[in-house]
Amino acid sequence: MVRAVRGASLRLGAGETLALVGESGCGKSVTAMSALRLVPCPPGRYEAGRILFDGRDLLALPEAAMQGIRGNEISMIFQEPMTSLNPLFTIGFQVAEAILLHQDVSPEKARELTLEALRRVAMPSPEKRIDQYPHELSGGMKQRVMIAMAIACRPRMLIADEPTTALDATVQGQILDLMRDLQDDTGMAVLLITHNLGIVAEFADRVAVMYAGKVVEEAPVIELFESPLHPYTRGLLGSLPQEDTSRPLLAIPGTVPHPSLLPAGCAFHPRCPDAMPKCQEALPPVFQGGPKQSVACWLYEEASQAAS
Ligand code: SF4
Repeated sequence: MVRAVRGASLRLGAGETLALVGESGCGKSVTAMSALRLVPCPPGRYEAGRILFDGRDLLALPEAAMQGIRGNEISMIFQEPMTSLNPLFTIGFQVAEAILLHQDVSPEKARELTLEALRRVAMPSPEKRIDQYPHELSGGMKQRVMIAMAIACRPRMLIADEPTTALDATVQGQILDLMRDLQDDTGMAVLLITHNLGIVAEFADRVAVMYAGKVVEEAPVIELFESPLHPYTRGLLGSLPQEDTSRPLLAIPGTVPHPSLLPAGCAFHPRCPDAMPKCQEALPPVFQGGPKQSVACWLYEEASQAAS
């Protein structure tokens, strides 16, 4: 058995944006897919834990009830719009499909709502684009279609998995502005998955940092950037390019371990500049590192005990 996610306790409120960050392979996408029960089972398995949405445990719901939630109450913008859209259907068909599935409306009304969704994502010439196929659109337009599909039913929660990775910087900015406007408009909660800390600083309210399948630090965005506590978070922030280009870029030595080969104790210890003997023996629990900041690292054991 390989545990892709070993401990992720997250909370997301209405209208709030929580960014989930970490290197590739740390469990971000599996965490997000689990919220919609999209991990294929088998071979996948939800071993333990709960995923509560409005008090309902999504892991305990029958599949039919989950289908009523997916794309309706909780939506997801997947990575790679180039491959997530079906090349054989027009974009109008693909956006209307979600509307027809979840709302009791005629095909004519679904087309009207599709046009409205395309307008909301500022698609140029929506009346023309609605009947076009994905290959006729640019990368930015395809990403707008993905967002239109995700928000067509006005979800209460949006999961955006690397929503701007494949786009150039200008289009990236436009897409982020668009998501923020939609959020202001509808009050939806956003779980933003990214490894781009610049996007996090601009867009998120709170940040959770994942490493080797666990959340190792969580804090409001300002606290995290101003006083990162976990050595891994400090390493991530230290490796960002600075204005002072004479300073060499810092790197975190080593690589993320494969989930089947996790070291004992704290999984970060082989790469950690602050590792102590204890770190190789026991998994650190989550300590309170500040009024709104939590951290899973033995360095904060004493301070946390003294404060409590
Ligand atoms: Fe480093 Fe130890 Fe903290 Fe892990 S628990 S991050 S090894 S100091």
